[in-house]
Amino acid sequence: MVERGCEAAYFGETFAESRAKFLLAVAQAGGVATSYVHPDEVGPDGGTLSIDVGVFGAAGARRAFMILSGTHGGEGYAGSAAQIAFIRSGALDTLAHDVRVVLVHGLNPYGFAHWTRTTEHNVDLNRNFMDFSQPLPRNPGYLEVHPFLCPDEWSEEALAAAQRGMDKWIAEHGHQAWIQTIMKGQYEQPSGLNYGGDTREWSNLTLETIVGTSLAGVEKLAFIDWHTGLGDWGEPFFLCFSEKDSSAWARACDWWGRARIETTIGFAGARRPTYNGLVLKGVEAWTAPAEMVGAVVEFGTLPLQQSLDQLRIDRWLKFGNTPDDPQRLADMRRGTRDGFTPPDREWRRRIIGHAGEIQLQGLEGLTAW
Ligand SMILES: [Zn+2]
Repeated sequence: MVERGCEAAYFGETFAESRAKFLLAVAQAGGVATSYVHPDEVGPDGGTLSIDVGVFGAAGARRAFMILSGTHGGEGYAGSAAQIAFIRSGALDTLAHDVRVVLVHGLNPYGFAHWTRTTEHNVDLNRNFMDFSQPLPRNPGYLEVHPFLCPDEWSEEALAAAQRGMDKWIAEHGHQAWIQTIMKGQYEQPSGLNYGGDTREWSNLTLETIVGTSLAGVEKLAFIDWHTGLGDWGEPFFLCFSEKDSSAWARACDWWGRARIETTIGFAGARRPTYNGLVLKGVEAWTAPAEMVGAVVEFGTLPLQQSLDQLRIDRWLKFGNTPDDPQRLADMRRGTRDGFTPPDREWRRRIIGHAGEIQLQGLEGLTAW
């Protein structure tokens, strides 16, 4: 029996448990909950998959704070705990008269429930917010490294050969090109990593409905999309995508601290890649001309290379691969789960503490804006 501490009040161990904790918190705090049930998919237990939205504050408010969890499925346990901690803190009980808070729980409920990064179509939802009627960006480098990232076999021999291929590619092109190539998103290899899809995912379409309903008429928008993976263990790592000399950038520095917004850690010495198809960019486009101040905020789990290796295993298992040894399979699954949301109590306590502070700073900033 695992000893359960205070963090267990916020973290679920399954999607169903996280969802129930979130909905209970919304109801007890007097928020309005709406559920968008997935039409095609169910959880590993056969249970309902849904995106659940909790709204606090006045309808028609001109200022809003939108917070997302579970864009990358299995990372959602931490984002969910952050949202629940925000509700339980009491900060939403007395909002200013024209401020509302919109919490979107489990944006990719399939990945959340199945402890995987991508959607039911192996789509990285945070690369899927594209205009698919236009030509999609090419990523020829990805096609070169795909066989090394995603070998058919997960044996010592195959992995050593893949590593030699990667090392050679990096020696030829450099570390910066490597980071850019593997992280920016790709639209040509549906069974690969960071695949952005060839059409808008259900989660993408549903978020547009949620934005249309809950952010109509908003002029000033604060925004956080909670993730895990990049950055130092248990510490927040901000990815702010506003123009560097813009008022939105300055405001983010004001709210959350310049050091956090302008940090350059997180990519093992490389500059931040230029991503395609971010959720945040979709929300910004749908709410235009509203001004948006916000970021993707990560909580660090593993060093970058180990994190990448866990995503490679996550993807390998997804495509019907199973090691012969059941113990090895169990170890691989536990590794990917722990990479998304570490079970360590101290890590979880840190997330609740940091998230509580960051969300409150966002709310105070928005209220004073
Ligand atoms: Zn993520």
